[in-house]
Amino acid sequence: MMAKYNPQEIEKKWQQRWAEDRLYEVGEDDSRPKWYALTMFPYTSGDLHIGHWYAMAPSDVHARFKRMQGYNVLHPMGFDAFGLPAENAAISRGIHPFVWTMQNIDNMRRQLKSIGAIYDWSREVITCLPEYYKWTQWFFLKLYENGLAYRGKAPVNWCPECQTVLANEQVVDGSCERCGATVSRRDLEQWFFAITRYADELMEHNGIDWPERIKIMQRNWVGRSQGTEISFGLDHPGASEKEIRVFTTRPDTIFGVTFMVLAPEHPLVVKLTSPEKKAEVEAYIERSRRQSDIERLSTEKEKDGVFIGAYALNRLNGERVPIWIADYVLLSYGTGAVMAVPAHDERDFAFAKRYNLPIRVVIAPPDWQGGELKQAYIEAGTMVNSGQFNDLPSEQGIEKVSDFLEKKGWGKRTISYKLRDWLISRQRYWGAPIPMVYCPKCGVVPVPEKDLPVLLPEDAEFKPTGESPLKYHEQFVNTTCPRCKAPARRETDTMDTFMCSSWYFLRYASPHYEEAPFDAEPVKYWLPVDLYTGGAEHAVMHLFYARFFIKALRDMGLVSFGEPFSRLFNQGVIIAEKQKMSKSRGNVVTPDGYVSELGADAVRAYLMFIGPWEQGGEWNDSGISGMSRWLNRVWNLASGEYSQDGKEIPGGREQAERALSRLTHQTIRKVTEDMERLRFNTMLAALMEFTNYLNRVKEEGAVNVSAWQEAIDALLLLLAPACPHIAEELWQKTGHEYSIHNQQWPKWDEGLAKEEEVTLVVQVNGKLRDRIMVPASITEAEAKEKALGSQKIKAHLEGKEIVKTIYVPGKLVNLVVR
Ligand SMILES: [Zn+2]
Ligand SMILES: [Zn+2]
Repeated sequence: MMAKYNPQEIEKKWQQRWAEDRLYEVGEDDSRPKWYALTMFPYTSGDLHIGHWYAMAPSDVHARFKRMQGYNVLHPMGFDAFGLPAENAAISRGIHPFVWTMQNIDNMRRQLKSIGAIYDWSREVITCLPEYYKWTQWFFLKLYENGLAYRGKAPVNWCPECQTVLANEQVVDGSCERCGATVSRRDLEQWFFAITRYADELMEHNGIDWPERIKIMQRNWVGRSQGTEISFGLDHPGASEKEIRVFTTRPDTIFGVTFMVLAPEHPLVVKLTSPEKKAEVEAYIERSRRQSDIERLSTEKEKDGVFIGAYALNRLNGERVPIWIADYVLLSYGTGAVMAVPAHDERDFAFAKRYNLPIRVVIAPPDWQGGELKQAYIEAGTMVNSGQFNDLPSEQGIEKVSDFLEKKGWGKRTISYKLRDWLISRQRYWGAPIPMVYCPKCGVVPVPEKDLPVLLPEDAEFKPTGESPLKYHEQFVNTTCPRCKAPARRETDTMDTFMCSSWYFLRYASPHYEEAPFDAEPVKYWLPVDLYTGGAEHAVMHLFYARFFIKALRDMGLVSFGEPFSRLFNQGVIIAEKQKMSKSRGNVVTPDGYVSELGADAVRAYLMFIGPWEQGGEWNDSGISGMSRWLNRVWNLASGEYSQDGKEIPGGREQAERALSRLTHQTIRKVTEDMERLRFNTMLAALMEFTNYLNRVKEEGAVNVSAWQEAIDALLLLLAPACPHIAEELWQKTGHEYSIHNQQWPKWDEGLAKEEEVTLVVQVNGKLRDRIMVPASITEAEAKEKALGSQKIKAHLEGKEIVKTIYVPGKLVNLVVR
């Protein structure tokens, strides 16, 4: 009596066995080539939903595939454990963030273990533990020592709800990414990392295999533009400054400047505003403070502003131009001031129309007759109304005007970037404390390495107030100066959690190393990561910061490579009920129920089958039931008795064996190629076709036992990465040694995989009219199609009607016509 497929029983059994045998633990002392497969570690938000599994299961399949291909595969797992959501959840539930986080980790680890992945749990990393964040702090000190961490005052995005500063990336359409509140602006003294120093290098993705769209997003994020910085004169009694500097990529339009616009926060605004304009200007500044950069830059928003009652001087034509403020100009972009050329800039055009400011054409469109423009003309053209530069093509004008400005000392060519330095200070509790001390005598003093970690006190009041909760923790704040031993105060802000995730992939190489964040040798062996998989939403955050971080470490001589992730792959999104899963919609699918009912193998396989991995797809229950039925068929196929004493085989046993061997080798080829390309859905489809064929062979008893066993072995080996438990169990049941996961990946033979060809005879009314070479496995429909497609046959069919078709498989098509 054949035992039934019981995933609950076999999955638990094998997971236990693999763990006991430490089957997936890896070391560096290994003759196999290395493969570092990494999935972005999860945030410790509570339960893993099916979306997490969609990130993790297929990447485990690929890692298992590489392992069977003979690689020494490191596929670690850990937890991104600091950050706002933990703190907010802890506040709303009244539990300490540490307790909440560690409970979540226990639960998530249990869920992750049920996947049956090859995670080497001996290398687990948790970023909120002192043994980890000690080194996050150490890296802060290194960046500081190397002049890459500095303190500066800057307007910041402020979420009034979360009571914290947000990075630009965390502001979505002017609202807080976490809570949806409208973001306003505030000035605070903060810590920054000088990521802009790597701006040029971060735009290049040399020697790495990354999706094109991520590379484009990163390049746009850096936003490099070549242009000219131009000095406008100022003649104002109240100001000591004698100029305003603007950045432009179009110096050829300088004769068309009819006004100037400053960012409301520009330091000159207060100095230049005339007394009668003061109240109006102040009200405008206050209003713009409440808006985020993104709102201010929105193309939907109407451009408004205020004249401040002062004038600048265009040195090229000696004209006085009025100075306005408008919030579409940001202080953090360029110089915070723009020369407005309404004829040749869309925003300036709209602004000029609204306030009735002059619009002067200085670049003539090709067929321009000297009239008014209906809209800004932003393309190249011929310079007009531009004094000595008239009649120059605008591309040449850019160079000539820049030369002239440089000669006069009124300007210089320069490069401008949209990228700002990385603001890492957070006024929150649940993060790694910034290891700095403020001494009344010595100023800013770094905490000595030997005193790390600066521990996060457990008993701090962590409710948000707008200031760091650590500020009110006397024992934490009060310390002595490491340099002069006088009483001093600690920095109370904590670090952006993106700092923790900028280096975790290094820690996996030597997770318990105590002398440094990582041991040089294992890092040299494992890094860079060979395949990194995760969501595309991290393009200009985690994936950007991690690259900066590695480049900085390389320049400090700490690592020998400049890119952390050699190949990047972004999986798509799993939706449910036609929508993105979210708690508020109530359509979150959790894997646990499916795992306990149908088994992890069915869930893994179904996730891969749902669609191309990079596209994602829709979860539905009938789909996973279908997958479970297929695994049952595989079970019955491989574990049941095979008898070759079947009925007479048409074409003979030998031909049946050749056909089976051909399909086996074709399937090996297809599955291998799909695995390499991470095309798991078509890989599974090929395995399903293969099992259907095997079922027919079994019913017919068409091949010898040894040929049958060979085919079943191949099926199990090909199935092992996707469905590791059932493959292991069936491997044992079919008389093999434990473990299938230590077997070599099967290789295909091109000769055996080649389609056998036969000659198809085509007759019309019984007379031979053509011979065509076709694959031996051709179906009746395909054979007819081929026959009808033949030019010779077409000639014989003209004006006739086919009344009957006779088909002899692989041999003959006879078309009976009238
Ligand atoms: Zn918020
Ligand atoms: Zn001191």
